[in-house]
Amino acid sequence: MLQHVRWMIMLVGMTVVVAACSTAPAPAAPERLTVLVTTQQIGDAVQNVAGEQVELVMLLGPGIDPHTYVPTESDLRKLERADVIFANGLHLEARMDRVLEQLATREGKRVVLLGNQLDRANLLSWEPEAGFPYDPHVWNDVRLWKEVVAVIATTLADADPSNAATYQANAMAYAAELDELHAYLLAQAEMIPAERRVLVTAHDAFGYFGRAYGFEVAAVQGLSTQAEASAADIQELAQIIIEGNVPAIFIETTVSPRTIEAVQAAVHNATGQPVRLGGELYSDAMGAPSSGAETYIGMMRHNMDTIVAALGA
Ligand SMILES: [Zn+2]
Repeated sequence: MLQHVRWMIMLVGMTVVVAACSTAPAPAAPERLTVLVTTQQIGDAVQNVAGEQVELVMLLGPGIDPHTYVPTESDLRKLERADVIFANGLHLEARMDRVLEQLATREGKRVVLLGNQLDRANLLSWEPEAGFPYDPHVWNDVRLWKEVVAVIATTLADADPSNAATYQANAMAYAAELDELHAYLLAQAEMIPAERRVLVTAHDAFGYFGRAYGFEVAAVQGLSTQAEASAADIQELAQIIIEGNVPAIFIETTVSPRTIEAVQAAVHNATGQPVRLGGELYSDAMGAPSSGAETYIGMMRHNMDTIVAALGA
């Protein structure tokens, strides 16, 4: 009986709370969209388009390899909560493909795989036999990234029509900055003699960069870091460096330097000559705050400037 009375009191209490809620005034400002992005590159694009108009949630920070990243429980909760999800797609976030696919079926949730929105004719090929026909590292060609920014602006304008004009205006202004960046990168690449424009890295993230700015690219690992590099891969790359007289090779922020150091050792063993390490490139993630590479433009400039310093002299 006593138990019953307690329940009654609780129920009465709850009714009062519910009644209080229903008479509370509506919030003055409309709710901001929650926009979740996987990579820093996409986060920077959203920030340029939307500024403070949206709540930005980013999953992959500096130094995190998107090819091997497995979402945590807390990531899954964030994905659940987001109104709009932007991912790179094209199998970059390999371990998230399935959850993104599931979320895309939810009503009211917008899930956009940005790379998949690009014109296929402009994409480089990857591993068609494995079911992944296109190279996912699309941000490394500024012209493609400009198209990605346009897709982000259209999606946000659609999801949040009251701010649509702001998103479109910001995207236009940012596109002009990207045009400037593209011109800068082309001009910098010209400073390296044509025969020295060979970019050797740990994994094959720079295919679009090579095509856009005139470099041959070679890497120890394929387009994904999911498979380990073999001794044969290392020997093969050492041969390319020796035959091409490549002056410097590069480590990456999201890949262990071990593989590129193994290549360096193989060249040294074969020729008695060292090949220099040209510095560190941001391949699949951008820099930490105040590294100068914490924005997309800063990262692209850092990479090109590092390459020019190492190969141009
Ligand atoms: Zn990669």
